[in-house]
Amino acid sequence: RNFNSNNNINHPQFKPHGDHKSDFLSRRQKIEQQRRSLPIASVEKRLVEEVRKNDTLIIVGETGSGKTTQLPQYLYNGGFCHNGGIIGITQPRRVAAVTVAKRVAEECDAELGQKIGYSIRFEDMTSPSTKIKYMTDGLLLREALLDPKLSRYSVIVVDEAHERTVQTDVLLGLLKDVQKNRSQNSNEVRKLNPLKLIIMSASLDARGFSEYFGGAKAVHVMGRQFPVDILYTAQPETDCLDAALVTIFQIHLEEGPGDILVFLSGQEEIESIEGLVRENLKKLPEANQKLLIFPLFSSLPSEKQLKVFTPAPVGFRKVILATNIAETSVTIPGVKYVIDPGLVKVRSYSPDSGIESLIVVKTSKAQALQRSGRAGREGPGKCFRLYPESRFEGLDDSTVPEIKRCNLSNVILQLSALGVDDIIGFDFMEKPDRMAVIRSLELLYLLGALTDEKKLSDPIGQQMARLPLEPNDSKALILASQFDCLEEMLIVVSMLSVESIFYVPRDKLEESRTVIKSFSSPEGDHITLVNVYRASIEFLEKNKTENGNEKAEKNLRKWCKDNFINNRSLKHARDIYNQIRENVERMGLKMSSCGDDMLQLRRCLAASYFLNAALKQPDGTYRVLANGQIAEIHPTSVVRRSKPECVVFYNLVQTTRNYVRNVTRIDYLWLAELAPQCYALKDD
Ligand code: ADP
Ligand code: MG
Repeated sequence: RNFNSNNNINHPQFKPHGDHKSDFLSRRQKIEQQRRSLPIASVEKRLVEEVRKNDTLIIVGETGSGKTTQLPQYLYNGGFCHNGGIIGITQPRRVAAVTVAKRVAEECDAELGQKIGYSIRFEDMTSPSTKIKYMTDGLLLREALLDPKLSRYSVIVVDEAHERTVQTDVLLGLLKDVQKNRSQNSNEVRKLNPLKLIIMSASLDARGFSEYFGGAKAVHVMGRQFPVDILYTAQPETDCLDAALVTIFQIHLEEGPGDILVFLSGQEEIESIEGLVRENLKKLPEANQKLLIFPLFSSLPSEKQLKVFTPAPVGFRKVILATNIAETSVTIPGVKYVIDPGLVKVRSYSPDSGIESLIVVKTSKAQALQRSGRAGREGPGKCFRLYPESRFEGLDDSTVPEIKRCNLSNVILQLSALGVDDIIGFDFMEKPDRMAVIRSLELLYLLGALTDEKKLSDPIGQQMARLPLEPNDSKALILASQFDCLEEMLIVVSMLSVESIFYVPRDKLEESRTVIKSFSSPEGDHITLVNVYRASIEFLEKNKTENGNEKAEKNLRKWCKDNFINNRSLKHARDIYNQIRENVERMGLKMSSCGDDMLQLRRCLAASYFLNAALKQPDGTYRVLANGQIAEIHPTSVVRRSKPECVVFYNLVQTTRNYVRNVTRIDYLWLAELAPQCYALKDD
């Protein structure tokens, strides 16, 4: 493969220091030394001082400078927990919250969940003694529902603010209010200290944040950055996966030592490349096989995620296959080569159709620079962009905030629950599109979550706001308790919360079809997922009684492999199931199962996902009834051949074509019966 050189970004060069690895040092001493050598360490005193002087502070610093792991410790040592308050740090991604908390606990020599903890949706690792708490921004929003003044916190750090996820944007608006309310709490019994607010960002543009927070002070933390050679392909690539694969081996066989970081768009892509690298590796002479593969994506179990931080043994090279988590959220030591196909998976929402989908788009220039920067953390590096240089010039400068391109119904639901009824008037850093707001309000209204006065309805809206799920899914669970199939709907929602339950290697496509058939239901994918879940639980329970827990889990892994099921995803779905089950039981929903009467489940799906109903066209494509969009049934669906007349689907994916995924057959007439607010029959 020919790469066009050479557009050298010349950063000021710093001497590497603090990197003398001595085998005589204990792990503790090594960590101490590492901490002291981080760029942020030299400004500890100054940062603590600035936080003392300013109620709102913006900190900008190169990725890897030590912001996320060190600042909370500095603040703790600087006495910001003395009044009993705790330090909260929000992350846009679950992975970051977990890995960073584990790292910081280790640095502090503390047991995770004690002084240092984390809390993410479906997983709480904190205790009353927790002082430094890492969490997702979404989770802090939920906490605000129960404690509008966030009174437990003396400091809140909003990390990775440059990512501008929708939850971060909402949180920023909310925190601005909390800060105001806390300082005017004259008639409260317990006087609260002002809330210290710190916004951290990896990108250099602090101005936007500063203006939004009334001219808040911004400080910059210098990072270390070595020059990175940027290489482009001579021609546009048609198959990005293949190009990435070839480039991995090209680096592995031709370049000097150093780990490789590859940016991919999602779990499926990562897993398929992982398989391909393994296959190709086997074909190499033994001496060249010293390549270790580490996948890294959000839904990967956290013990697997942490493995990527382990240095490769001498003589080995690591290749890390990551989503854009690795762009700024986690810094992996040892990376010298970056492969950037220039793509990223993002949410996309069309107010016209009212449909949200995940689409793969080109990165922005800022993202491309951030990615290439990952190669120059410890020494000069190389970044292989899998596109021609001319394309780079055409990229957008920066990424559009998510709030501009997502379905807002969840946000509106949350804000309504917090008492914010006027969404258009809410003080967002960047206002969402008016049409998108109206569409999302409509959706909530159709789901029965909002009243005519745009207030949260009781009990439906209240219940929906309490569930940590998308409004559609929450509604499905609430309805399921009336349709006597809550057990099955819980399984469906949990299984659909993970990226992909089936895992089929490219070369086993045919074999897998026969195996997967044993689970499939002619009625559709939702029921197929219920079958898989039930079969796995049955297998596990039977094995536990026969062989004990540990052996049973091991056998289940084998069972998954034999059945082309992704063990990680299945386990994750089981955890989610247990969590949501706790949630709905606490809410007092009636647990019930429809047994084998899947008609109930299908009717309930129609009643909940009625906006995702589609009708077969004469040419075999489907028309989404609510908006006229045309789509095909995804090739992975069990009904792709039988093509039922009328279906509900869970998601719409847009690649070169529109596909509906996770599809189940329904009866057209059910729509008018079960969702008259949307499908009233005319002239009766
Ligand atoms: P920033 O937030 O400024 O990007 P971090 O505080 O996340 O920086 O990281 C500081 C340093 O700590 C990095 O060099 C990173 O490699 C290291 N680090 C972070 N987490 C871990 C971990 N779990 N294991 C080993 N090193 C880690
Ligand atoms: Mg960070």
